Amino acid sequence: MIRVVTLDSFDEKQLAKFNRTLYTAFGVGSEHSGTADVPAGMSDPLDAEKLLEQVKGIRSYQDDKVLLLTTRKLKERELPSGMAPTQGFSRFGKDRAVLSISPHKDLESGYKAIARHALHQLGHLWELHHCLDPRCSMYPPWTPSFSQGEPIFCTFCREKSEQKIRLAKS
Ligand SMILES: [Zn+2]
Ligand SMILES: [Zn+2]
Repeated sequence: MIRVVTLDSFDEKQLAKFNRTLYTAFGVGSEHSGTADVPAGMSDPLDAEKLLEQVKGIRSYQDDKVLLLTTRKLKERELPSGMAPTQGFSRFGKDRAVLSISPHKDLESGYKAIARHALHQLGHLWELHHCLDPRCSMYPPWTPSFSQGEPIFCTFCREKSEQKIRLAKS
C-alpha cells in the first residue's frame, strides 16, 4: 500500500482526499500513516536525496511505498540542461519518495498539480519511466505544461503500474 508520511502540519480532510486520488490512480490502498521529523540541522531548501536517506521512524512493510509530504521547499537539482526546480524526488524502483507542496500553502490550493507530481514520483517507485503522452503524469515534470494536467496515467502507464503492483503482491 501507499503510506503518506507528513513532515509538517497538514489538514486531515485534505489528506483523505489526496489518498483517494492516489487510490484511484494506482488501485492500491493509500493512507496517512503518521508523521516524521526532518532531521535536525537540515535547513531550507531541503536536500531531497539526503531527506530520503535520513528521515527516521517510518514504519512500513514489505512492498509498501512511502511518500513523504512537506510544505517546505526542496533544493533545486542540477540536470544536464541546467538547474531544475524540484517538486519531488524518488529513486527508481525503491520504496521512498518525497514531495513538496511549495509554493502552495496547503494541499487544496494546488491540488491537481500536487497530486499529479505525487503520481509521478510514486510511478517511478513502481518502475514507470517517463512517458511521451502529455496528458500522463509520467510526462517529464519540468515541462511548462506539466502542472496544468490532471492527476491521471495514460493506459500504458496505468497497466504497467498495475502489473508491477500485482507482481509485488505475489
Ligand atoms: Zn520523473
Ligand atoms: Zn504514460
